[in-house]
Amino acid sequence: ALYGEERRNSRGINMNVLDQWLPLQAELKNWWDKQWQAAPLVGGNRLAGEVRKVMCPYQLSHQVGEVVWASAEQTHDAIDHLSAAFVGWNATPVDTRAAVLERTADKLEEHMPELMALCTREAGKSLQDGIDEVREAVDFCRYYALQARQRFATITLPGPTGESNEIYLQGRGVFACISPWNFPLAIFLGQVSAALVCGNTVVAKPAEQTSLVAMRCVELMHEAGLPKDVLALLPGDGAQVGSVVTSDPRIAGVAFTGSTQTAHIINRALAARDGAIAPMIAETGGQNAMIVDSTALPEQVIKDVVHSAFQSAGQRCSALRVLFVQEDIAERVLELLKGAMAELNIGNPGYRATDVGPVIDAEARAGLQQHIDKMKAAGRLIAETPLPEGLDGYFVSPVAFRLDSISELEKEQFGPVLHVVTWRNKDLDKIIDDINATGFGLTLGIHSRNEDTAEHIDARVRIGNVYVNRNQIGAVVGVQPFGGQGLSGTGPKAGGPHYLLRFVTERTRTINT
Ligand code: GLU
Repeated sequence: ALYGEERRNSRGINMNVLDQWLPLQAELKNWWDKQWQAAPLVGGNRLAGEVRKVMCPYQLSHQVGEVVWASAEQTHDAIDHLSAAFVGWNATPVDTRAAVLERTADKLEEHMPELMALCTREAGKSLQDGIDEVREAVDFCRYYALQARQRFATITLPGPTGESNEIYLQGRGVFACISPWNFPLAIFLGQVSAALVCGNTVVAKPAEQTSLVAMRCVELMHEAGLPKDVLALLPGDGAQVGSVVTSDPRIAGVAFTGSTQTAHIINRALAARDGAIAPMIAETGGQNAMIVDSTALPEQVIKDVVHSAFQSAGQRCSALRVLFVQEDIAERVLELLKGAMAELNIGNPGYRATDVGPVIDAEARAGLQQHIDKMKAAGRLIAETPLPEGLDGYFVSPVAFRLDSISELEKEQFGPVLHVVTWRNKDLDKIIDDINATGFGLTLGIHSRNEDTAEHIDARVRIGNVYVNRNQIGAVVGVQPFGGQGLSGTGPKAGGPHYLLRFVTERTRTINT
């Protein structure tokens, strides 16, 4: 039997974990060559328009599918449609809406191999990242369903005899959800499910690079019983579709994950409208640091550094960009870092042994390469994992550079690029000031066995997610609610108990009985 029964290898190691991979790998084989399709979807109807080919980021001549881009007119029509559907969906009991999310979670689990394959083929995700992606999407659905059931309960308030007072939550209207390519399923669905469960109708604009994942997700939501008229999907050009959406006075709120620059554009577009004053939830970039003092264990530090900087090819907002190591242990840490980087496997993300797959597209690679060339020319190279021969895709080698200060970095480098600063004891407060001065505030790692040091840093940084003595990526829904401050975003945190509150409006009802 391949699964279920316990098998041990010659060294007594339980092999059951491997057994679980075998059926999954067999299933994945069915999906590698599939061609997926995406199109604007309004009221359940697929609309026609300009067709674009979707190519694989690590086998550049392989097509993954086709996507029809939405036009400005279709975008307007979608918002008409969603405005009309709002009243009915908002009046649907919260239990019914939450149950749709729970059934969506079941559907995602049933379709795990297909969704993993699609994340790999369209977005270049490694198999482990694909598993994590589907799990996170499932968690978002179940968590927001649970939160909505609790939060939407009517609260009775005091009042004089003859009067009843109560307060309860309602949807706001048509919500726009604008999502990134780096979590094409989890963040897409995280935003959409939160908005829907609160009673909003939703116009969803996925990133240009990952419309196919988004489309498959919406199809599964429909199979799970989501009414067809409450969610419209509009694949297409960010500047075009996005600007039509955000300048429409009927949009009651925006959930956005992406660059800080785009968040500013959306914010300005919302402010320039004559319509309602709409809330915006922005989750944007970071210039994330890890501070390591001389009491830390170098072996543990390196494991966490490599994971935080290079997992997902560094394409996470949470990823580590600047490592601060106290000088007493710097030599040892750098030696271990070089050794660990030499062991990383770069290549086809569809193989289990691959640690680092491609970056998303040619533009992303060119931007990273420019920074890498500049740092090399300045003589800053510490280590670079060699790129294997014969790769056909947007690969960037994991690389580490020496820096004197975090302030030398002009912008976030969204890829497998790590910078290292060495510090002396008297510098600690200056480092903290420099990190705060970047204006970003997403994640921070601290490695220290001295509790006072960790507390000292924690009390002074302006950061959304602080991780002590562990890696700093992979926030778990309901366990490490995720989101930053300053240039990194507005909050409330995704996967946290306050997230839904930004998607709702409050109704107070007073009845003279
Ligand atoms: N939540 C993810 C993490 O903790 C990052 C999300 C993002 O990159 O936008 O790694």
